[in-house]
Amino acid sequence: MSKPKVIVIGAGIMGLATAWQLAKKGANVTVLEQSAVPNPVGSSVDDHRLIRYPYGDKPGFVAMVRQAFGAWDEMWADLGERHYHESGTLVFGGPNTPRAKVQADVLATQGIDVEWLSPAQLVRDYPLLMLDDLDGGFRLPTGGTLRCGRIVAALYRHLTFQGMDIRPFTQVKDVDPVTASVTLADGSKLTADKIVIAAGAWLTKLLPDMASRVTPSRQIVIYVRPPAGTADAWRKMPCLLDIDGGNNGFYLVPPTPGTGLKIGDHIFSRQGDPSAERIVAKAEAQAILDKCAGRFRNHGDYRIIEGKACFYTVEPDEKLLIEARDKALILSPCSGHGFKFGSIVGTRAADVVMGAADAEQVRRWATGEAP
Ligand SMILES: Cc1cc2nc3c(=O)[nH]c(=O)nc-3n(C[C@H](O)[C@H](O)[C@H](O)COP(=O)(O)OP(=O)(O)OC[C@H]3O[C@@H](n4cnc5c(N)ncnc54)[C@H](O)[C@@H]3O)c2cc1C
Repeated sequence: MSKPKVIVIGAGIMGLATAWQLAKKGANVTVLEQSAVPNPVGSSVDDHRLIRYPYGDKPGFVAMVRQAFGAWDEMWADLGERHYHESGTLVFGGPNTPRAKVQADVLATQGIDVEWLSPAQLVRDYPLLMLDDLDGGFRLPTGGTLRCGRIVAALYRHLTFQGMDIRPFTQVKDVDPVTASVTLADGSKLTADKIVIAAGAWLTKLLPDMASRVTPSRQIVIYVRPPAGTADAWRKMPCLLDIDGGNNGFYLVPPTPGTGLKIGDHIFSRQGDPSAERIVAKAEAQAILDKCAGRFRNHGDYRIIEGKACFYTVEPDEKLLIEARDKALILSPCSGHGFKFGSIVGTRAADVVMGAADAEQVRRWATGEAP
């Protein structure tokens, strides 16, 4: 029997991870990417993306994080390179803070224990931060950063070396899920048995009807230089998510060997065009640093080194979307938290395409509602 032919649109983490698994499962894969690989303005680049077990009140996503760690290990083995830096996870709020308590309870249902910290322990262990307003916190030894840009570059090298047909600077202008065919920017057509659409923040340009389901969202991140004498202490810090439910939510990625101290905005802008020029105004970058004013000791001594505008798609309930449409599988597993799942999304998506998994079951799994 001949190998099934699959076209993958998009060479971000979702497209390449699916291509990686499709090839392992015996498909003949062609990847079409409108930009360079890695795409410097794709969602899957930059230095790092967080992976951590705490996931609010959502046990389904906690279980998916465990599955994702397993699939990342499979990827490291295939690549012969490992691009994960473990720094541990710190969650603000003690057992009397409902948000923290719910997270710890959900983790317990998944067999994950946390180490509770009293207010005094919190202040003692994290002197770079002002934490006196909290009733404590908890931490886990697991969690850290996936080196996203390096992962996409390594996957590209690996798959190309294996002989996969990956075509940078090949834009798909039109896709027909019924006939499993695509029309390229030069007017030529390609047909396959199945198509995977992993177009990231550009999805709604390719499938305009998806605009009612997901919204491209421009997000600002900044890299900062910490005050003199604190660099070593910052390198020992865990990843942080400081979400107060209001407008001051931020996440922070500590510096690791070869990467800087990054702060991002947790509020979705739900606006902008991913194809527009990515210029960051000084005031936009400063607004992100200002969100940390109540948390950073010596906040005024932090200096912005760089501001970046990035895009991802947002689903109203922040769900990951994997949906079959005729002979196509549409992947929009994002809402700003999809990278960590890239390895396992690729595995499950490839199973659907190869007929080894039920599309509806995988759709429900991706929403965090089914095992
Ligand atoms: C600032 C920021 C912070 C984030 N933080 C985290 C985090 O901490 N943890 C986490 O898990 N996730 C995080 N995410 C989310 C995560 O990065 C995304 O979910 C993930 O990278 C999406 O991958 P993708 O492959 O769908 O999209 P992309 O990487 O954007 O890939 C899509 C590719 O499709 C190509 N394409 C589009 N249209 C066409 C076409 N017509 N023809 C050919 N090619 C096309 C594009 O050029 C692009 O290269 C963050 C995202 C951003 C932007």
